[in-house]
Amino acid sequence: MPTALGFAACDFLIKYFPDVFDYKFTASMENSLDDIATGTRNWKQTLSEFYPPFEKKLDSVLEKADRVKLAVEYAGKKCPKCGKELVVRTGRFGKFLACSGFPDCKHTEALVTEVINAKCPEDGGDIVIRRTKKGRVFYGCKNYPKCKYASWTKPKQSV
Ligand SMILES: [Zn+2]
Ligand SMILES: [Zn+2]
Repeated sequence: MPTALGFAACDFLIKYFPDVFDYKFTASMENSLDDIATGTRNWKQTLSEFYPPFEKKLDSVLEKADRVKLAVEYAGKKCPKCGKELVVRTGRFGKFLACSGFPDCKHTEALVTEVINAKCPEDGGDIVIRRTKKGRVFYGCKNYPKCKYASWTKPKQSV
């Protein structure tokens, strides 16, 4: 699963460098590289066609582009220390909750997915309580992303 940063980086690159991220560009660049490899094309000329306009573009994007803002995933829970909203962050060891008041407030806590006494109707996995990006509670299968079962209403309890 790509992270929020991955999505944001991808959107940014496609927005500001549409020609470089176009398949036609890749295909024609590969043809040029093949021609250079077989000696039918001059590498200096190829680079001088590509690089100067690209360098200009880089400079102007660096100067004018808005900084990437990551989509914030609210946990639907308040910080016990300062009362601000907790947000879901991704660290080296997976997701955790952190205070949106960071860096003033450094509160963090584990992201606990609550297991309830119910089984997934699709594959029998445990049902856990999850929250949407906006904080709405739903019931999902613990085997997500392998199992896509999700429901707004609590599945029937079963043992
Ligand atoms: Zn806080
Ligand atoms: Zn399931």
